[in-house]
Amino acid sequence: MLGFTFPGPGFDVSYHNHSNMSDGAAPIEVMCRAAKAAGLREFGMSDHWVIPPEGSTIDASSWRMIPERLDEYVEKLLVLKKELDSENFTLRLGLEVDFFFENHENVVKNLEAYPLDYIIGSVHYADTFPVDHSINDWVGLTADQISAICENYWQKLEGAAASGHYDFIGHLDLPKKFGMVDNAQYFAHGVRVLDAVQKTSGAIELNTAGWFKECNEQYPSSALLKEACARRIPVIVNADAHHQDHVRRNFAEAAEVLKASGFSF
Ligand SMILES: [Zn+2]
Ligand SMILES: [Zn+2]
Repeated sequence: MLGFTFPGPGFDVSYHNHSNMSDGAAPIEVMCRAAKAAGLREFGMSDHWVIPPEGSTIDASSWRMIPERLDEYVEKLLVLKKELDSENFTLRLGLEVDFFFENHENVVKNLEAYPLDYIIGSVHYADTFPVDHSINDWVGLTADQISAICENYWQKLEGAAASGHYDFIGHLDLPKKFGMVDNAQYFAHGVRVLDAVQKTSGAIELNTAGWFKECNEQYPSSALLKEACARRIPVIVNADAHHQDHVRRNFAEAAEVLKASGFSF
């Protein structure tokens, strides 16, 4: 575990990034070298680790890392770590792990055999509905269907936070991504997740990728960041980069938002 303290590790680290071993555009080595060249002090790869519960109809094969490739992923990162680590740069090994109530204990336990520095806890599925896959999945849904999706999403995220398994929780208010959800309606749900994070001494991220989606703002909202600040929850700024040019994308804007939400670094 990386062990974050309030307010967070600052603006020259980045722990949420993807390579083409999951749904990123670039090979691991291209991402890591770009991060070092961009002046980051620490950089973590966190490709998608999605193990749906037994019997689930979820098919994540188009965007997750193939489970059989985890050894190769770790090996590649350890080789790169040897090459790139220096006085001013540290490469970290991570994964973005999907939370499911049915199997999260086992999924996390099975990862203990690997020399990972940290894991991110994220929710991308409400039941079997892919929350952030495509706006087309949302078009045509009734208000009741949208509300059921959001309720399930937030319940799972609260479960992830309460488990205490994860170094930090990913993109808190993800259902807002495509602009199809009245996000303010779920403020109390977000606060419940923050309460669970606080109780388990966890952390959250400010994920800058939301600025480039239909919702046009960071995850989570400023309103939730203020609540995080009031609870002295550490916040890690991440680009959720899927391309080597994006490893520090909108970090300056993130600094402004955090300052306006009460954080001082
Ligand atoms: Zn994610
Ligand atoms: Zn991600």
